[in-house]
Amino acid sequence: MWVTDRVALVGSGRIGYGLTSPFDCNVYVIRGDRQNVLIDAGCGLSTDGIVGRIADAGIEPASIASIMLTHSHADHAAGAAGLSVRLEAEIVAPAKSAQALRQGDVQKSAFEKAQQAGGYPAELEYPKTTVARAISDGETIDIGGARLEAVLTRGHSYDHTVYILHELDGRRVLFGGDLLMADGRVLLQTTKDCRLDLYAEAVQDLATRGITGLMPGHGPVEPTEAALILARAAAQFATRIPPETLR
Ligand SMILES: [Zn+2]
Repeated sequence: MWVTDRVALVGSGRIGYGLTSPFDCNVYVIRGDRQNVLIDAGCGLSTDGIVGRIADAGIEPASIASIMLTHSHADHAAGAAGLSVRLEAEIVAPAKSAQALRQGDVQKSAFEKAQQAGGYPAELEYPKTTVARAISDGETIDIGGARLEAVLTRGHSYDHTVYILHELDGRRVLFGGDLLMADGRVLLQTTKDCRLDLYAEAVQDLATRGITGLMPGHGPVEPTEAALILARAAAQFATRIPPETLR
């Protein structure tokens, strides 16, 4: 399902478009002139569904070079191991998330707590995952015809990272993970890796970056009106009371 000329939605769970496993985040393909990348990987229960939707979008699954993860939470990252094998793609993640994934660490990834709270079914596992390399704040990848920039946005988790697609015509499309949804909600949790003060700083910083489109980790996409959503969230954080949280 193409949502812009370069971005297709190929996975999405119950808080979204219901395309694949209910426990999946939104999973996107970005089409570059030189390489295609996947943003986030879902929970691992719909690997076939995601690969099928990549093909349905007219993208050769084997053309995907990298799976870029926003953070280590299971709905975004537990599916990376299976997808990397199917797509023969490398996995790239922020450093602490990479460590949690390599160890299959159910505490650092907050998986154990989320599963105990009923957030994930008993059959879902958090696998040890081969991460090819860690990505740092400010790192930019030229995918051909556009650049993808990693921005560290701590707050939702200890190294939550968003990706900004810089297009030649000036559009800047934010792949926001769990940072901010298109309806203006954020995602606060009582897990150890969530920090409200850092969350506020991250949103306020992003609001200054000329973002035009928002491809959130859950819920509807917003290809054009992201600046307003970010400005409103930043203004709300400035009052010291956070925006409403997704549940
Ligand atoms: Zn998360």
